[in-house]
Amino acid sequence: MYIAIDDTDSKSGMCTTFLATELIKEFSELSLLDFPRLVRLNPNVPWKTRGNGAVVLELGYGKNKKNVIGEIDGETALWDGESALDEDIFQRTIDVVSSWAETDREGTDPGVVVGNIRPDIGLYHKGVTDIVTLEEVTNILDDLDLRYWGMGNRRGIIGAAAALAWVPLDCTYELISYRKRENWGTSRRINRDEVIALDKATKYTFDTFDYRENKQAIAPSSPCPVLYGVRGDEHEELKKSLGIIKSEEPERYLIFLTNQGTDDHIRDTNICDIRSYLSVHIRCSVASSPITIEGGHVLFEVTEDGSTITAAAYEPTKSFRGIVRQLIIGDEIELWGGIREEPLTVNVERLKVNNLVKKITKIANPECDSCGKRMSSVGKDAGYRCKRCSTKGDEDDALTEVVERKILEGWYEVPVVARRHLTKPLKRMCRGKEGYC
Ligand code: ATP
Repeated sequence: MYIAIDDTDSKSGMCTTFLATELIKEFSELSLLDFPRLVRLNPNVPWKTRGNGAVVLELGYGKNKKNVIGEIDGETALWDGESALDEDIFQRTIDVVSSWAETDREGTDPGVVVGNIRPDIGLYHKGVTDIVTLEEVTNILDDLDLRYWGMGNRRGIIGAAAALAWVPLDCTYELISYRKRENWGTSRRINRDEVIALDKATKYTFDTFDYRENKQAIAPSSPCPVLYGVRGDEHEELKKSLGIIKSEEPERYLIFLTNQGTDDHIRDTNICDIRSYLSVHIRCSVASSPITIEGGHVLFEVTEDGSTITAAAYEPTKSFRGIVRQLIIGDEIELWGGIREEPLTVNVERLKVNNLVKKITKIANPECDSCGKRMSSVGKDAGYRCKRCSTKGDEDDALTEVVERKILEGWYEVPVVARRHLTKPLKRMCRGKEGYC
């Protein structure tokens, strides 16, 4: 039996993952048949609260099988009975969700999907890369006889159904710990040195501490019940955090299987096919020098096959902007990033520099071939003329030198503090026995 839920939180509290722990409590007579899943969906949807995450539980009789149907070598053979009472589970899930969801806040529109099968993975692909309508989703759920329920505008059903459709090809884990109730809404006591110690003590965790910006990245700043979340490729290793992060005692924790850090949201595309709400990967070349605008955002144009689009490294990407500022016209690059509704700009998450053009700067006007005197410029891009003997020279005759570039060919990513949940950290791209390379 699968239970999928979404859109239970608001900016002022709650977290859909916390409800996973409450549902596990509610269904204590059942066993978890798989890790609870935390599935991130399209990071560009305008109506998300924070990270556009939905949660899926797979529950069944498991170890609690009750029906004896045989005896083999002295051991009873157990049958897990009829599938759990669907109607009962559906109603109890609705009761738990309605009692915790922040439904008095605008923009909280919870959704629940319950059933024995998953929708086709195509629904997940669309949900993580594009916009899905409620009508599309309810048609799919009706065809599959899956039960669903929603409050408000019922939008949460979209995320719940898309999350249920996820089949992990690439996946990671997150251990999320939750605060004692009396601490909710107060500032978190997360010690920076403990977070660094955790990072050093683990081989396969990522996005834990941002050494570039000198900031911990495991604790949120919102007033939600989460104390911290530690992400990684090995679920057992994540439990080390419980012994290392001691500054505030969590009340409970749960390890989720997630699509975080997998790049599942990215579509390889051409600039001419880019539209709002997608996250794209494009191969292109730099078409204008990067400029810094008010607010510290860095913008530049990129071009590919006659189409052009603006790329942006916004202020929250901090030191990454310094890398982007080193690009010059003609550099061949690849960009990964999300597209908002307006303006149609690539919000850069990752950059790969494939080929740097030579940066040439003029150091002097040319010498006159006839009399040897230094020539004068006639005007911008208009060439040179010798004042003494009127000999003409081309723009290209000027004396130039090659300037050393302050950027190398290769990969660059935004700092941990600016990274999206779904974005694959570069360290995950290369994994050895002793940790990420
Ligand atoms: P948190 O991550 O803190 O749990 P959130 O960022 O997930 O919160 P929600 O409150 O769940 O934000 O809001 C996201 C809403 O967008 C949900 O109602 C969800 O069903 C809907 N949604 C998610 N993905 C899509 C999509 N691809 N198309 C349309 N709606 C979507």
